[in-house]
Amino acid sequence: MYPSLFDYAGATSWPQAVQLLQEGGEEAKVLAGGQSLVPMMALRLATPALLIDVNGAGDGEPRRESGRLVVPALTRHATLQRSVVVRDACPILAEAASWIGNIRVRHRGTIGGSVAHADPAGELPCSLVALEGAVRVLGPSGERIIAASNFFQTYFTTALEPGEVVTAVEVPVIASGRGWAFLELIRRVGDFALVEAAALIDLDDAGQCARVRLTVGAVGERPVDLSDEAGAVLQNGSIDEASAAEVGRRASAAVDPPDAVHGSGAYRREMVAVYVRRALLAAAARAGRGGAA
Ligand SMILES: Cc1cc2nc3c(=O)[nH]c(=O)nc-3n(C[C@H](O)[C@H](O)[C@H](O)COP(=O)(O)OP(=O)(O)OC[C@H]3O[C@@H](n4cnc5c(N)ncnc54)[C@H](O)[C@@H]3O)c2cc1C
Repeated sequence: MYPSLFDYAGATSWPQAVQLLQEGGEEAKVLAGGQSLVPMMALRLATPALLIDVNGAGDGEPRRESGRLVVPALTRHATLQRSVVVRDACPILAEAASWIGNIRVRHRGTIGGSVAHADPAGELPCSLVALEGAVRVLGPSGERIIAASNFFQTYFTTALEPGEVVTAVEVPVIASGRGWAFLELIRRVGDFALVEAAALIDLDDAGQCARVRLTVGAVGERPVDLSDEAGAVLQNGSIDEASAAEVGRRASAAVDPPDAVHGSGAYRREMVAVYVRRALLAAAARAGRGGAA
């Protein structure tokens, strides 16, 4: 199928994109990498009267800013995957990006588009919640910084207000010694995930768990933050097969994934236990090695 007719405007800055969005009203939509929007337009699931192309609105080079990694909205998934700055400051984001779609999708798709699209199976929303990241937004009333945990609301729905654009995503730089892991279950390379697990672990001097962050994705309406559940089992204790499996069981009980084409809800629920256990053990092993990949 072909998209319905639409007008096109290119923005050369984020403020101009906001202005064009205001002028276009409800019928206007932002176009970034086009990897989600264009297929939806081809299927006529989206029929915008005006596309505002933001590819000229800013740069797409991640950078460090006082203890945080700032990833501009136009950063391509492939840049996230390969950037030395990202791999050094926040390797879990590079790992998560490497699971997205295929090489063609990763070369066009952007982090701004991924967070605005808010697919519950998206790798980046799941890792951003685990990382306690935030989304920088610009709109008619100025800039807002929204915690990732509040940004993703439900299926394909975010805290973005009409007329607002995502300009960047920011996450704390991963301290040396912090262990991390991002794992997912897919049927075939390039498929959307059936289950995702993102884990971050800090160990104390005795090798016990000082802090754990745990998020699962693709199994609900938005990323599910299970850090409290994980902490209740692991805090001040050792992370081993038994304790990681116990967190896995609790995680599995906390979610209720719907049936999907490639896996029933019951199967995916079982797999949450498996992937949570593996992610915790992998993150703990990295923490034990000083966070090295
Ligand atoms: C074959 C295929 C496989 C894929 N597999 C995966 C996968 O495994 N995991 C995954 O996470 N994704 C996957 N995707 C989607 C891909 O990651 C997209 O790149 C991403 O979802 C959207 O980014 P984009 O830049 O292409 O946004 P676009 O498609 O241009 O836009 C998507 C939506 O976000 C809005 N938007 C875009 N940028 C902004 C902005 N800066 N501010 C406000 N709104 C904005 C648009 O208006 C639109 O509503 C796949 C896509 C394809 C085609």
